[in-house]
Amino acid sequence: MTETPLTIALSKGRILQETLPLLKEAGIELLEDPSASRKLIFDTTRADVRIIVIRATDVPPYVQHGGADLGVAGKDVLMEHGAEGLFEPLDLEIARCKLMVAALKDAPPVSGRVRVATKFVNVARAYFARQGKQAEIIKLYGAMELAPLVGLADRIVDIVDTGNTLRANGLEPTEIIADDISSRVVVNRASMKTRHADIQGILDKLEQAVAKRRTPA
Ligand code: AMP
Repeated sequence: MTETPLTIALSKGRILQETLPLLKEAGIELLEDPSASRKLIFDTTRADVRIIVIRATDVPPYVQHGGADLGVAGKDVLMEHGAEGLFEPLDLEIARCKLMVAALKDAPPVSGRVRVATKFVNVARAYFARQGKQAEIIKLYGAMELAPLVGLADRIVDIVDTGNTLRANGLEPTEIIADDISSRVVVNRASMKTRHADIQGILDKLEQAVAKRRTPA
């Protein structure tokens, strides 16, 4: 019986660009360039491994529900989605950034209910609850930085790397929610059992590739 190929879910952009070299070191290379293609499924140099390219926020549900055996997702996306049905065995130590609260530069403290614009609604809700602050969470899908500029929100919760985007819009970080955001490998719980040898083999090689980067020869 020919098994279906092991399916790895990646997302376009930073994760794809930074994960492909690690996969290559693990012996898995795509047969065509996904950034130059509209295809969603890609064959690799290993006949038993294929890659699917989907939206970053869709990686956890694809892996959780078995549409992919493995995936690479940002810790921010995993925090927002929740860990149900997923193993998170490996930190690829790429696409590092922080999840922060930000406000207009020199904004005064908010008394009473704070209006927070973000795409990370679950993370934001939990964070402000932990702080004992009442928050109205406004779900946006992009350009969070705009919300305080037009009076839509008092604060935003967003990913910050260099801080350039915040500065360019007259904002500044005010609180750190998580300072260890990076891309993580996630594995479907059932696949981890039924295809353990294949998956563990890939995880081991990826781990070696990550370690090699950490301590270049
Ligand atoms: P920066 O100006 O360097 O602070 O980065 C600004 C924007 O880039 C953020 O608002 C994010 O949308 C995006 N970004 C930066 N780093 C990452 C990352 N590791 N993962 C996803 N998005 C990121």
